[in-house]
Amino acid sequence: MRDVKRYPTTTGESWLEMSAYKHHQFKRHTEIRDEYDYIVVGAGYGGQAAARHLAELHPDAKIAVFEAILIGNNDSGKNAGFIIDVPHDFGDQGNSSFVENQKYFELNTFIIKWMEDTIKEKGIEDVDWDHCGKYLCCAEEKSFKLIDHEIAELKKMNCSYEVVEGEDLYRRTGTRYYKKALYTSGTVLINPADVLRGLFSVMPENVDVFEECPVMRIDEEQPAGIVLRNGRKICAKFVLVTGGPFIEEFGIVKSVFCPVLSYGAFTRRLNDEEMSQMAGVKPWGCTAGHPAGTTVRFTRDNRIFVRNGFSFATDLTTSHQRIRRAIPKLRKAYENRYPNLKHVNFEFIYGGMINMTMNYRPLMMQKHPTVFASACGEGAGVAKTSLLGYYLAEWVSGMPSENLAFLKKISTPKRLPPEPFLTMGAEARLFYEEFNAKTEI
Ligand SMILES: Cc1cc2nc3c(=O)[nH]c(=O)nc-3n(C[C@H](O)[C@H](O)[C@H](O)COP(=O)(O)OP(=O)(O)OC[C@H]3O[C@@H](n4cnc5c(N)ncnc54)[C@H](O)[C@@H]3O)c2cc1C
Repeated sequence: MRDVKRYPTTTGESWLEMSAYKHHQFKRHTEIRDEYDYIVVGAGYGGQAAARHLAELHPDAKIAVFEAILIGNNDSGKNAGFIIDVPHDFGDQGNSSFVENQKYFELNTFIIKWMEDTIKEKGIEDVDWDHCGKYLCCAEEKSFKLIDHEIAELKKMNCSYEVVEGEDLYRRTGTRYYKKALYTSGTVLINPADVLRGLFSVMPENVDVFEECPVMRIDEEQPAGIVLRNGRKICAKFVLVTGGPFIEEFGIVKSVFCPVLSYGAFTRRLNDEEMSQMAGVKPWGCTAGHPAGTTVRFTRDNRIFVRNGFSFATDLTTSHQRIRRAIPKLRKAYENRYPNLKHVNFEFIYGGMINMTMNYRPLMMQKHPTVFASACGEGAGVAKTSLLGYYLAEWVSGMPSENLAFLKKISTPKRLPPEPFLTMGAEARLFYEEFNAKTEI
């Protein structure tokens, strides 16, 4: 396959700064073997699930994970931290049918439990993992139709929910910005970098984890394996590629993924006086009444987090200039919701890539008898990419199942239009969505 030209980079500070696992030491590069049974490329949630499940299935196999940057500084560590059980923005996932949505719900619930069981079994309950559910909050009446739509789907799936309004909503969120919210209880709110790094720190004995160790090429022919950026070849019987937005760089597929940049910011911790304005408010999080609206969280360590803004990630990276340009919109969203806390600065600001496909469908494929790959194609990717990684491990192990067949069946990402139509189209669409989101931003 071809040599990688663009590698992941680190710009901005995010959840990793607040993780107790930030300084965990993974294996030294001098410990890299010449040969493994399985190599996983990419240490996001997809790579985490693939490597751990491979180790469960093959306790005697030698497995290695290679990550280009620090684990937790990638998109898996830079998201808003919602692991969502119910299909997110119903009907938005490539026009999913009701049967598909039901299956997503079942599989999401399964993978969340699998992660939670691992956290308990491995004794890392100190990671920031909170069963506090999720709100879908609407600031204007015209967005209520999204709540109505989701309620109809939840009813069909027999999922419980709660509609929260007025003083009750204020008591739970500490803001009077929203008029109405839909609450579902199955979502887990996490510090995504903390949980990811925590999970990688307790990989089974037979998994070697190497960070800051970029992979330059996948070799599919015998001897199969990978070539590191320093030119060293490592052989493997099978290579599993879970490179997120970088998957096309390896030559796995072409013109399928269209990564979109979005930005997040955290206030410093609120002090005691500021916290008196949040008296009785427990950690909570909401997505917005419009797909281009602002996501908000009140974290366990008393910070307010906001995420908004979309731009097309043409160069597979963000930059300090782009992050700076994102600040006014983040600031406005924060100050609109918490006018009494206007004086509180942002401590950390960052940009990350949401790995989208045209029809929100994921990719799961066998590129060669020795090379397998997966990546999700939507905004709610933590649960989905974990599922893909988990079942990719079963696929490579020759274990057919109904769930694997389902994931292979929905893996139909649509091809992107050629340039310059792609960039023009993506930017026009993002501008249109943000324009329509209005007060939900
Ligand atoms: C701002 C933002 C908010 C989001 N909010 C949410 C949310 O609340 N809930 C949710 O479910 N999803 C959310 N997402 C989406 C979610 O983060 C992604 O879907 C998920 O992280 C994808 O995981 P992954 O493992 O497939 O890919 P990634 O996390 O991108 O992992 C791929 C890894 O491969 C590594 N890699 C790439 N190239 C190489 C190479 N050459 N050599 C070695 N390693 C390489 C990368 O560094 C990276 O660590 C959000 C995304 C963003 C950006």
